[in-house]
Amino acid sequence: MLDADFFRRWMTVTAASVDREAERLTALDSEIGDADHGSNLQRGFRAVKDALEKEPPATPGAVLTQAGRLLVSTVGGASGPLYGTLLRRTGKTLGEAAEVDRQQFAEALRAGVDAVMKLGGAAAGDKTMIDALLPAVDALGESFAAARDAAREGAVATTPMLARKGRASYLGERSIGHQDPGATSSALLISALLDAGPG
Ligand code: ADP
Ligand code: MG
Ligand code: MG
Repeated sequence: MLDADFFRRWMTVTAASVDREAERLTALDSEIGDADHGSNLQRGFRAVKDALEKEPPATPGAVLTQAGRLLVSTVGGASGPLYGTLLRRTGKTLGEAAEVDRQQFAEALRAGVDAVMKLGGAAAGDKTMIDALLPAVDALGESFAAARDAAREGAVATTPMLARKGRASYLGERSIGHQDPGATSSALLISALLDAGPG
């Protein structure tokens, strides 16, 4: 079972991983965006980590809704509201339970990804974070390792895609041949589940 501690570790491991990879995320965003994706997420997940350390929420749902709210308020740019919505909707779907199993988490994360697709209007194949998140959610029922592999493969698969949403879409054909920064950070988020604990 996954408890509030597990979800706190998920967020702090993600914060550490975003810190480590911030330069790479920003470099990817400099190719097809405005070179701020790494710094945007670094600011956001630092705020999440600080808040979770100061006042740790008691349930999985509360950890994720608090994290989502902080991302919305601290990350400038498109990815803030999108990641914020992902975590908030996932958290709300988990409700008040003190512990959830991996299947319940997978269902809640699916609701979160659906909410991101509604908000941003992106579908699979549009070269966004959705291309890493959707395959991850599909694999999450199997294991965290399967979800991580699916997210990484999904991120790599964005390279030949033409961007249809967000800043990269302004480039049209010139967006082809570059890996999407948001899909890359989504793979970090999903990979962090493995380091957060057994599942
Ligand atoms: P900004 O583009 O405002 O500078 P970021 O650089 O932080 O924001 O985030 C860019 C990432 O956000 C993209 O690589 C893409 O994955 C994701 N993104 C942008 N627009 C959308 C959208 N409409 N739906 C889903 N993801 C999106
Ligand atoms: Mg950007
Ligand atoms: Mg920006």
